[in-house]
Amino acid sequence: MSFYQTYRPKKIAELDLASVRDVLLSTLASGKISHAYLFVGPRGSGKTSTARILAQIVNCEKNQNKTEDFSEPCGECEACRVIGGGSSVDVIEIDAASNGLVDDIRDLREKVRLSPVQLQKKIYIIDEVHMVSTAGFNALLKTLEEPPTHALFILCTTESQKVPETISSRCARVNFTKATVDEVVESLLKAVKGEKLNIAGEVLRQIAEATDGSFREGHKILEQLSSYDKKINEDTLTKVLGVVGRHSVKKLLVSVSNANTEEITDTFASMEKTGVKATILVSSLLEEAKALMENKIRSGESAGLYLEIIDGLITAADRIKISPLPLLPIEIALLSVALGEKGGITRPKVETPAQEKLLPKDSIVRSSSETLIKRREETDSSTGSAQNNQAVLVNIESVKTGWGDFLSSMAESNGSLAGMLRLVSPVDVQGKSLTISVTSRFQQDMLERDVKRKLIEEQMSKVWGPMTFKCVLIDKVVRTDAIQEDENLTAPKDEMVSAGSGVMSAAEKIFGSKNGI
Ligand SMILES: [Zn+2]
Repeated sequence: MSFYQTYRPKKIAELDLASVRDVLLSTLASGKISHAYLFVGPRGSGKTSTARILAQIVNCEKNQNKTEDFSEPCGECEACRVIGGGSSVDVIEIDAASNGLVDDIRDLREKVRLSPVQLQKKIYIIDEVHMVSTAGFNALLKTLEEPPTHALFILCTTESQKVPETISSRCARVNFTKATVDEVVESLLKAVKGEKLNIAGEVLRQIAEATDGSFREGHKILEQLSSYDKKINEDTLTKVLGVVGRHSVKKLLVSVSNANTEEITDTFASMEKTGVKATILVSSLLEEAKALMENKIRSGESAGLYLEIIDGLITAADRIKISPLPLLPIEIALLSVALGEKGGITRPKVETPAQEKLLPKDSIVRSSSETLIKRREETDSSTGSAQNNQAVLVNIESVKTGWGDFLSSMAESNGSLAGMLRLVSPVDVQGKSLTISVTSRFQQDMLERDVKRKLIEEQMSKVWGPMTFKCVLIDKVVRTDAIQEDENLTAPKDEMVSAGSGVMSAAEKIFGSKNGI
């Protein structure tokens, strides 16, 4: 038997998903056990294990003639044993993903009327129920409409939206979520103890992080690792799974902050040899850099370096998919930050596509480009910029076109400030005032500090002539969705411009306030 089967929970109280455990414990206490359940959740979240426990509970000798305050399965009575051993004829598990299903369900309609042979209740566990055909659902529906008292149905699915409403409305729904890292660790610890494995807590955590919230996946990885050696450390992890140890991740980031480019290339060379997986490396680096950035912010130090690293890594994550050498985009991202730290070396402009992605082309940006602003001449000479006193049209398009130049020139005078500006994007120009969108209050505070503002506006004037800027705080996730769904933005462009304040008023409509302006 696999680890996952051997160490699966045997009682409701042992379920690893806290939310499901709590719901079902209160169901047991109240005695309100439904005749049909719909278990919804991702693969490996424990739906089938839970279904079997429920099958034992309604059949366990301890619970006969009870109407409330049901006990957990005793594990010893005949019913508990045959169900636990998977050998009861009255527990019928149907995998809807396999063939001959319609027949199975039609068959079910006939047979469900017959009393159980061995147990008090017949249990039907239908896995991947969303795969059942229309004919099958019709048959199932008729059964659920008049359920015999001696049957309990447990329908499991990873895609609840594909289960007809007529079916799901007749079931008590239990939501299985992706497990948290802690929950996976907790579940794995049972196998660690049972198998007497020697593994550090930190390594166990890294396994849990690599599972994407699946208990089954976690046990599979642990089992695989333990087949090499009972003693499992970071090296085993890298060798077997291509998972990179936390220690190496930290070391890489230190190399970047020390601008030690040689150490970075050496580390990548050895990672290539051991077969480190790029997707795992990039997310480990991001997590670590994020933690370091937050520490810096908490202690009031400059977090510019980490903002820059995070920005580069996000772009690299995208490029991994198209790179013939998957680790290379990550190496380039880290090297270019390190080179920037060394000073004077212009970074490759990896940031441009990311900025374009921030706002859908068809909404705000396009309409704002219609508002061409003619700069007034009289104030041009005030900053002594390279521009002469000719009238220059500055609009959002020209700002976007020159943004790369502006960032390069910024990088030459102040690397960390340039790093921060790589994370924001220009959204609108009104007169000589540029509006840039920021995604956090922290970014806004940093950019709007007097000293920084002066530096930024000085560099802006070199590219576009005298200019001021203001920040608008936009929530990263809400923004894209809101813009796509908001009808205001699909209105004719003229209407938006004639609304007076144009784009920004539209943005305020969407985001509901003048937050951060
Ligand atoms: Zn029992």
